Amino acid sequence: MGSTTAYDALLVHPDRAHRLHVYPDEVLRTKSAPVVSMDEGVRSLVAEMFQIMRDEGGIGLAAPQAGRSVRIFVTEEHEGQPARAFINPTLVSLTGAVVSEEEGCLSLPGIHVKVRRPPVATIRAMDEHGTVFELADDALLARCWQHEIDHLDGVLIIDRMGPMDKLATRKALRALQRGEVEE
Ligand SMILES: [Zn+2]
Repeated sequence: MGSTTAYDALLVHPDRAHRLHVYPDEVLRTKSAPVVSMDEGVRSLVAEMFQIMRDEGGIGLAAPQAGRSVRIFVTEEHEGQPARAFINPTLVSLTGAVVSEEEGCLSLPGIHVKVRRPPVATIRAMDEHGTVFELADDALLARCWQHEIDHLDGVLIIDRMGPMDKLATRKALRALQRGEVEE
């Protein structure tokens, strides 16, 4: 049943373009462009991003991680907040004394570093139907939004890490640069 299996695989993954892109892939360093029209292409990209995020067990995923340089990210449901798509997101406000917390990134497997960010955020974005919404958070989601918007600007957590983490992650980063993914 070899040929049948191959055919089934094609049906499940008609296009593997939207796989998870991992450091040092160039697309992660490209500044994303705003979405200009809310069409079927946007909605299918959003659906694909939810799929990749869930396959990989992440809490958030930005379009560059799916290989696309557009200003879209998705987040998983968290503490009563539903899973959401954020299209053309902007941080309306960032407040509170900066807090240093450990972050990981699906595109940097095996790497966890402390990142300093303001703890309270208000974000404005459009959903996949074109409806504008505004949300505020003072915990994990506030940090996640900042992490995902960084992705849209080509910024990764390794750009924000301190000297200790720089030293501690040197070997793991080199391995990723050589294309060796550590689980
Ligand atoms: Zn990330």
